[in-house]
Amino acid sequence: MDSLPAAGGMAETPDVLIVGTGFAGLGMALKLLDAGHSDFVILEKADDVGGTWRENTYPGCACDVASVMYSYSFAPNRSWSRMYATQPEILDYIRTVVKDRGLDSHIRFNTEAVSYEFDDAADRWTVRTGSGQEYRPRMVVLAHGALHQPQIPDIAGMDRFKGAMFHSAQWDHSVDLKGKRVAVIGTGSSAVQFIPEIAGTAAHVDVFQRNAHWVLPKADRPLKALEHRLFRTLPFVQRLYRLAAYWTHELPVLAFLNPKLLGALELAAKRTLSKQVPDPELRAKLTPDYQIGCKRILLTNDYFPALQRPDVSLTTSGIEEFTESGIRTKDGELHEADVVILATGFSTDNRCADEHIVGRDGLTIQEAWSEGMTAHLGTTVAGFPNLFMLMGPNSGGGAQSILFVIEAQLHYIVECLRMMRTRQATRIEVRADAQREFNTWLHGKLAGSVWNSGGCHSWFLDHRGLNRQSWPGTGTSYWRATRRPDPQVFQLSRAARTLR
Ligand code: NAP
Repeated sequence: MDSLPAAGGMAETPDVLIVGTGFAGLGMALKLLDAGHSDFVILEKADDVGGTWRENTYPGCACDVASVMYSYSFAPNRSWSRMYATQPEILDYIRTVVKDRGLDSHIRFNTEAVSYEFDDAADRWTVRTGSGQEYRPRMVVLAHGALHQPQIPDIAGMDRFKGAMFHSAQWDHSVDLKGKRVAVIGTGSSAVQFIPEIAGTAAHVDVFQRNAHWVLPKADRPLKALEHRLFRTLPFVQRLYRLAAYWTHELPVLAFLNPKLLGALELAAKRTLSKQVPDPELRAKLTPDYQIGCKRILLTNDYFPALQRPDVSLTTSGIEEFTESGIRTKDGELHEADVVILATGFSTDNRCADEHIVGRDGLTIQEAWSEGMTAHLGTTVAGFPNLFMLMGPNSGGGAQSILFVIEAQLHYIVECLRMMRTRQATRIEVRADAQREFNTWLHGKLAGSVWNSGGCHSWFLDHRGLNRQSWPGTGTSYWRATRRPDPQVFQLSRAARTLR
């Protein structure tokens, strides 16, 4: 791809500036290279790549999407050790891709973007970093993740607690849990992975559940030497595995969109529960009171067994307050704890709430999103020219591997850049009316889905109860929607000031 014109000055002027080196940001870099476009930099606030897989290091951290589907389609790993990879193996895969594809030279580590301002006259962004560096890219791609701001609950007396306390995504490995009384708040995807790991090390684990979650077995197992040989010698075999994993994730979405089809899935979850939890009292506590799929389904084989250990207890009476020495529940009981682990998820309501992003005519992202996060196809936002998001509003949250969604978005962005080049444009912006129309359609489609109407409150919904995460269709339909950018949806123009 030809270089777009650059501005003068002392700042670095890459065509594209990518923020974040998780799967999304690195994938963007790889797709740009494939398109012959090497004039880009990637800013990374930390000293290593990996995004969520660098940040989350809690014991037992793994992916609940099969490895063959939770990796780039264009960079298959022939040697995954298991069907569902663990965090260290996924991080290793990401580092290997960076090394193999020579992405290191594009990455500026320990460099956090702290402000983004669009220059209307030059059709360029000014991006400033925490250490005062300035970049003047033509395009910005925000790939800083959808689930990265830990949600710290606001519970009375939390500051009084004298023991150690940390969030699951900021695991404090300096705290030795051996022989300690550990309280875990939350029973979502993260908690069910680490509770079985810390049970047995801790003297006692007190699990505080607010709402029960639906659980299905995880079809995990080590991959055999024969499978590895087949993957290497006959790559189509691995593609078949990928295809099978793809449809395993795709089919439930049809039921999530038409909740009357959820019966079979709910029956399977109820069977899992009765098989694994013989005690009717515990089973009742673990039975959700909302439809399956409303919250993300948990895939685990060892969570229910862990809950039935003598040194683990499940508390459902609701948290009243923290004391100096533990947690008091609404029934008046004090649960003494040395360590509290907050497995309370991530803040997803408005992921740019604290960002300084100023688009056209001085519009801030806070103003644009004052009624809630909204975008077009989860990638572009009216008022913010030359800015793309990965995993933006309403592009995920279904059941398909987020890597599949990301790849569809990468393709879409590269196609948008191609469209700009063909039309000799220096600015691309989604039209406000097109974005509005798209969102009317999207929220209409979501209204009947289990995510909106299944009787629960999940992180898919914002504080007004509007779904800001889910794509209202299958992964395949998102893939179709992002094949070719529709020129009618965009305003394309050329900067008045001639550059370079
Ligand atoms: P989560 O699913 O949002 O679960 C948070 C848990 O904390 C819920 O049980 C919630 O209860 C509870 N909670 C929150 N605030 C509370 C409060 N004030 N008092 C008591 N309980 C409270 O968070 P997560 O487990 O970190 O997972 C978040 C997402 O990350 C997942 O849905 C998934 O997309 C992703 N993830 C993926 C994997 C993977 O394997 N691919 C692994 C981990 C995480 P309620 O249910 O009552 O709200």
